[in-house]
Amino acid sequence: MVCPHCNSENVQVNTTTYNKSQSRSFLWNLIMKVITSGLWLIWMLVRKKKEVLVTQTTAVCQNCGYSWKIK
Ligand SMILES: [Zn+2]
Repeated sequence: MVCPHCNSENVQVNTTTYNKSQSRSFLWNLIMKVITSGLWLIWMLVRKKKEVLVTQTTAVCQNCGYSWKIK
């Protein structure tokens, strides 16, 4: 792999896994709770099944510090 910034081959690749459904803020959850009221419990059950683990691979150039995402 070559850095697109400085063309150095000294690139470190990092893989990060995170839960996509946790990306929403606490405030957003609170607003949704108020709006949906009783439907909230049903929504929570539905949402739990839709939790998606996302793996993001990021490359960091050790030469110039440039970082970019790898699809
Ligand atoms: Zn670089």
